[in-house]
Order: sequence, then C-alpha cells, then structure tokens
Amino acid sequence: MKSNRDIQRQSASRPAPDVVPADPRPVLLRQSLVELTAETQRHGFPGYRARQVYQWLYKQIAGSIEEMTNLPADYRAWLAEFYRFGGVEIADRRVSADGSQKLLIRLHDGRLIESVLMPDGERRTLCLSSQVGCPLGCRYCLTGQGGLLRNCSMDEILGQYLAARRLVPAGQIPITHLVFMGMGEPLLNTANVFAAIGRLTDPRAVGLSPRRITVSTAGVVKGIDALGEANLGVKLAVSLNASTEEQRQRLMPNRRLDRLEDILEAGRRFPLAKQRRITFAYVLLDGFNDALDDAHRLGRLLHGIRCKINLIPFNPVPGLLPFRRPPEAHVQRFQQILAEMNYTVSIRYSKGEDVGGACGQLAGHLNAQILYDARLADALVDPHAEDQS
Ligand code: SF4
Repeated sequence: MKSNRDIQRQSASRPAPDVVPADPRPVLLRQSLVELTAETQRHGFPGYRARQVYQWLYKQIAGSIEEMTNLPADYRAWLAEFYRFGGVEIADRRVSADGSQKLLIRLHDGRLIESVLMPDGERRTLCLSSQVGCPLGCRYCLTGQGGLLRNCSMDEILGQYLAARRLVPAGQIPITHLVFMGMGEPLLNTANVFAAIGRLTDPRAVGLSPRRITVSTAGVVKGIDALGEANLGVKLAVSLNASTEEQRQRLMPNRRLDRLEDILEAGRRFPLAKQRRITFAYVLLDGFNDALDDAHRLGRLLHGIRCKINLIPFNPVPGLLPFRRPPEAHVQRFQQILAEMNYTVSIRYSKGEDVGGACGQLAGHLNAQILYDARLADALVDPHAEDQS
C-alpha cells in the first residue's frame, strides 16, 4: 500500500485536473452541419467542404483533422486553427475472458470515465457514461460512492462511441446498440445526452437507429418526462431495485430521485410506440430485496405498464459495498414468480467482471484517486497562498 508521502510525491509531479488551461476554441464535434457550413462559408470556403468534414467525422471515423486527406491543405489548416477537435482518448483497455472490453476514457481535463464494449452474438453493445462520477450515491454502486465531478459534454458522450468504433476491426460486427448505463445519471444531464443522441441518430452523422439506443435512469421523473417530450424515439429503462418505498429509500436515498409511485406514474404516461416496452431493472441483493414477497409486490406495482423486467444478480465488491449476490435458486425463483404473473423477465449477469467488475468499478477507483491526489496537491501548494497575497 502506498504511504501518504508516496502519494504526495506523486501528486506534486502530476498536474491537478482542474489546472488544465481552458481552450476557448469551439469544439468541432459539437458543430451541427448547419453551423459548420455557415462558418466554412463565412471564412471563404465552399459550403460542401462542411459535408466532407461530416463524412470524415462520422462515416470514416477520422480521429484528427490531418486524417481528412481529401480536403485542401488551406481548409484543413483553417479547421485546425479555428476548432478544437473534441471527443475523448482511450487511456486503458482491458479485455475480459467473455470478450467484453472495459475502456478507461480520458477527457480533455484529465478526468476519467469508462465505457464497456460487449459482444453478444450478432450484437455489439456499447455502454456509455454520461457524467464523471454520479451525484446519486445509490448504495449498491461504486461510482455513486465517489460523488459527481462534472457532467460529460455532448462531444465527450459522442466521443466514447467514436473511440470505441475505431477499436472494432473492419469486417467484424459493428457497434449495433448503445445503452446509457455507465457512470452517472443521464437524465440529470439531459442537454448533453439528448444532443449526443441527436448526432448519433442523424443519418448525415452516425445514423444509428434510435430503437437501438436505451437511456437508463435511476428514477428522475422530470427527466423521464423530458425524454418523452424530446421525442427522440429511444428506449427507456428504469432502475427500480425495490418493491416498497421504504426499501428504495434505504437503497437509493438521494433526494433528487423521485418516489416509487411517481416514477411508475411517469412510466405510465411515457409515450411508447407500438410494440415498445419500458424495461424495469431490478438489482437482486441477497437478503435485502430478493424475497418471494418482493417478487409478488413488484409484479403488482408494474401492473398496467407495458414493460419487461431485467433481473440483475448483484456483482459483489468485497470490502467496499455491503451487499452479496443472492444464491442462483433465489434468482430463478424470483424470475419464475414474475413470469407466472405474465411478465417477460430476463436475467442479466454483469459482463467483464474479471477486468474491473460492473458499472463504475474501473474509473470509479481511479477518479477517487485523482480527486484525492488533487486535494493533496492543493494542500501542498495552498497553505502559503494567504501569506503570499
Ligand atoms: S447506480 Fe447509476 S444512478 Fe445510482 S449511483 Fe450508480 S451511476 Fe449513479
């Protein structure tokens, strides 16, 4: 284990994330085609150059302006001077025995988030983060224990997709599905999440089908309503995890989360296209919410909502979180009760447990370390600040 002195030495040599100087240039990945065309023309270049840039960014997945080789040198030079490229960089990658890849993603200010790429038969799903950390502090989640550092910007969300797509070799199954189930609560960062979804589903940009994108919330009613009103056509998943309000309060006590009955009401009014259903996720915790009564109560709560249920046996984090995974027999029994109540119920096991565990377990540790290091670095520098003024 590192001593405080070791950590301080390390901290003194590493710039704290907040001291990265801000770059005032607009971010290229945030520009709409209309905006990019207007700026291109305003600076004396033909408007169709903007469409070529879009092609390079979203169809050929260029990682830099230099890669856009069919653009004239003077236009490329202008782009590089006028815009910051944006997006993210992959800081580390761990490949699991089950084929999933955990990507540790570095943002422009040094903060870290994670994305997970999961192959599954004919599908390849990418799990995206929407915030650096999370303010909600759900008791069963490691990310939540570190608090929120900041929101991810639109280009950082989009950049996770673009960076992951560059990793998939040509000829292999491309990324077919996206889920907002990584770090953070996407419906507390609606402006950036919705803008990124707009770009991901725009046929002139990435062009993914909205039906293949799922936004998952821990229960923010205002955000659920906003998602419905935005009419993006994406799927909604809600992490319920409890069959009574009292149980949910113990597990997910944050005041920004709404009451169970209000969340279910929001689910009832959420606009669903034909044959679409809301997914309710339920993390099964041994001895906490996995009893027969819980299964019956859950079935009654969801009555009348077009939905399916995802049961997620908890992925244990020994020494860090106080919950255990239920025995397989409990999981099966829980599923059976709900199936007998005519629900479609699947059991989802975490992927990539051997490379950093489930949601938040890779970047969560590292961000906590960075935050700690940054505070120590501040402590080393700041004590004399008053004396100097
Ligand atoms: S489970 Fe999701 S909403 Fe809850 S603390 Fe973790 S990241 Fe945040």
